[in-house]
This record gives sequence, structure tokens and C-alpha cells, in this order.
Amino acid sequence: MCNKKIFVTRSSMPTYEEYIEAIKPLWDSRWLTNMGKYHQELEGKLKEYLDVQELSLMVNGHMALEMVIQAMDFPEGGEVITTPFTFISTTHAIVRNGLKPVFCDVKPEDGTIDERKIEGLITEHTVAIVPVHVYGNVCNVEEIQRIADRYGLKVIYDAAHAFGVKYKGKGIGSYGDASIFSFHATKVFHTIEGGAVAFSDPELYEKLFNLKNFGIRGEELVVSVGANGKMNEFSAIMGLCNLRHVEQAIAQRKVVCEEYERQLGGVPGIRRFEKKPETERNYGYFPIVVGNEYPLKRDELYEKLKEQGIYTRKYFYPLTSDQDCFNNRYREMGLECARELAKSVLVLPVYGELEIEKLREIVKSILSF
Ligand SMILES: *Cc1c(COP(=O)(O)O)cnc(C)c1O
Repeated sequence: MCNKKIFVTRSSMPTYEEYIEAIKPLWDSRWLTNMGKYHQELEGKLKEYLDVQELSLMVNGHMALEMVIQAMDFPEGGEVITTPFTFISTTHAIVRNGLKPVFCDVKPEDGTIDERKIEGLITEHTVAIVPVHVYGNVCNVEEIQRIADRYGLKVIYDAAHAFGVKYKGKGIGSYGDASIFSFHATKVFHTIEGGAVAFSDPELYEKLFNLKNFGIRGEELVVSVGANGKMNEFSAIMGLCNLRHVEQAIAQRKVVCEEYERQLGGVPGIRRFEKKPETERNYGYFPIVVGNEYPLKRDELYEKLKEQGIYTRKYFYPLTSDQDCFNNRYREMGLECARELAKSVLVLPVYGELEIEKLREIVKSILSF
């Protein structure tokens, strides 16, 4: 029995002293937001760390996705092929842009969009593909790009889970036309709230800048109908502090995930996702798939663990396509694998400071049922 509650994640933080020292200059400058010094510094450093050509910081990951979709100027009512096995933000960003999500099934082995099923969903109205590197599992970026090229579609990745992930030696944000990252407090790297768009077309920088700053380009000049998506200086400084420690945080997560892997390896009915070769991972999540050979159903396991103070998450259940706000409104085709996964997946607690002792308690509980 755990004597203290264990949550699925725990936000990483610099020491109190490090952050306080870092924000001190703001009391002199009084420059608290509007693309200040620290915003610029973080943008530059993240561009380098994420190994991407261009980067625009945003107030959060959702606005990053909403605004980059808007920046692409798709015709109203255009169709966007996407995955329902994701956080609701992905689908909302499409719908809030006046576009129609078309839900594609996912692959059971890693939860990413099933690239073999994308072409069957393409119509004359299709404008883009919005796949998700779910849990940091890398989509089949090569095949998705081939399809996009063949049909003249844009590819925008939701890389909210994939901070620092590399594939074939390249930053994950350098694939597709654009990728968005989330720097929410619960993610591998965070700025309390925050996010970014990574891309390669330099013209997009200007467009995103206008979108996140009301289209203001001079004291008396507004060039486009933008909104407000700016990251403030306190957040940027939190990011600069966290970035100093992120390598270590990922290394700690790796230890946790590898220990889970070892301990749960041979357990009947507990499946783990496949790891794509040539991928540098970030160990953001440890999802398991609860199969028939396991004595409990996923929901029962979730409840039993909760009774013991172990808080796991049913990421991602229900599918976004099944949510009340979208139910039956949009086109989907055979979401059997996605439904099956949503019913059987469970994300176990992972954070750098999760003690191996606690992890053993979690595993012991899973084995005890
Ligand atoms: C966290 C998350 C987002 C949204 O990011 P915020 O920074 O919370 O706005 C979008 N997509 C996915 C898959 C996420 O996990």
C-alpha cells in the first residue's frame, strides 16, 4: 500500500533560488511580455535544441496549433485528415479554424495514425494531414510526406508529446510543413503554460508573428486580423531555467521507463508499444495496453490502482471523435484499432523524481491482481 498519493506526472522545476535569481532583472526593466529579451533568448535556444530551422514561441500548445493552421490559409470547409486518438486540443484546433476533421484509424503497435489508411480518406476537399506523435511515438513521417506530396497536401504535426525527440538524427520538428510543441506544466519541458511552432518556410514566421500579436506591425499600423498568442517573460524565464536541466530530466525519465520495461516485460496481458528504430526518445509517458490475458479490464485496473493511491490516466479515452461536441458530425472510416486502444490503454506515472521504490510498489500492485 502506498502511503502517499502518486500522480501520473509531477512538473519539473528549477530550484526556487535559480528561478528567483533569473526573474530579478524584470523588476528593473519592467518589460514583462511583448517579445522581450527572454522571449527572444528562449526562441533562439529552443531552435537550436529542437534542431529546427524556424521557431515561433506561443502562449500555449493549443494556440500554436490553431494559429499555424490559420496561417496556412486553407479554404473554409476544407477537410483535414487526423487521428481521434489524441488530446481534444488537436481536433478543436481544426474545427475552430472552420475546417472539417476526417478521422483516420491508428496503428495498434504504437498508436500513431495508420498511414496505410490515409489515402482512402482523401477527397477533392482535403487540404491537410494533422498526425500526432502520440506519447512521443514517431509517425511514419516518410510515407505521410509521400502521400502529401502526391496530393498536394500540407502536413502539420502535433508534436506536443515529442519535445526533444529525434528521428534519423533530425529534430522531430523538422518533418512536415510545421510541427507544434506544448510547454504545458505537465509536459517533458515546460514554461508553465507555453508552446511553439517549428517550421522551415521563413515566410511563416511573419504570419505567425502577426497572428500572435494582433497583426500589429507599428505604433499606428495593423496589417492583419490577429489574436493574442504571446508568451510572457516569466514563462520564457521558466523555460530558460528548465532547458538547462532538461537533458538530466530526460535521463531520469529514461531510468524510470527502463525499470518499468524490465519489471513488466514478461507479464501476460500487459503490452507495451513498439519502439521505432533510429529514434531518440524523450520518455515522456509510459503507456501500457491491458489485454485479455490480464485478469482485470483496463477500467478495473485503473480503479484498483486509484484505491491504492496510484493515479494513472486513461490517455486517450474516449476518442475525440466520440466526444459529445463532435459525435457523429464528422466523417470517419473504421476506427476499430483506435477504439480498441482507447478501451485498453493506461498511462502509468512517469516523472524524473519518481523513486524506484515507488515504481516497484506500482508494479507490485499491477502484479498482485
Ligand atoms: C498538451 C497537448 C496539447 C495542447 O497543449 P497546451 O500547451 O496544453 O495548450 C495539444 N495536443 C496534445 C496531443 C497535447 O498532449
